[in-house]
Amino acid sequence: MEPLPPIHRIVMLGPPASGKGTQGIRLAAALAVPHLSAGQLLRRSVMDGDPHGLARSLSEGELVPDELMYALIVPALHDGFILDGFPRTATQARWLDEFLEPRGWQVQAAVEIAVDPGTLAARMVLRSTYQHRADDTPEVFLHRLQEYEREAPMLRAHYGRLLITVDGQDSEDEVFQRLRGAIRTRTPAPAGRSSARAGFDVESVAPST
Ligand code: ADP
Repeated sequence: MEPLPPIHRIVMLGPPASGKGTQGIRLAAALAVPHLSAGQLLRRSVMDGDPHGLARSLSEGELVPDELMYALIVPALHDGFILDGFPRTATQARWLDEFLEPRGWQVQAAVEIAVDPGTLAARMVLRSTYQHRADDTPEVFLHRLQEYEREAPMLRAHYGRLLITVDGQDSEDEVFQRLRGAIRTRTPAPAGRSSARAGFDVESVAPST
């Protein structure tokens, strides 16, 4: 098996339609680790007969209970992940740490994709023309945005020095270059070499387009 790059356990934060899913998938491919999306997991559960009765919460943009979210996502974790949309509350962040720490799988970076609300709304309208998500209506979208803004300060404080904020206003490729550069500068150089570039170079495995 290929050795994992030094930074291979990352959580993605960011408001709805910020592109954290898209960027998370690209980053996961670049680092050769699984991409786990909380929202996708919940939508799949609804499509699979909705055993937890989540359809209404999802279509109204309400967060599902922390206990349920944790129980659904944590069994899928191994050493090496891009977590997209989890944790979303301070409680989830604490529980995640408590799960990871004894295994030696601590989160190494928390990436927040920052996009202004006007751009987010425009992207949602565009997405709704081809994706037809029940929660991509103007009212529900605004609610999801408000939920994010309520929880985000606690998540930022929780991750502290692990937080990397990436400007997500530009094209998918530009944002990915930025993200990749930010992770590269956080990557520790191997012992005996001083250059930051001496560390794992995400560029060597990442598709450039
Ligand atoms: P977005 O971030 O674009 O709103 P997601 O696909 O990540 O979309 O999430 C869709 C919905 O799933 C959220 O609005 C919320 O209802 C629910 N959800 C996703 N992640 C979580 C979580 N970690 N905890 C609770 N609810 C969640």
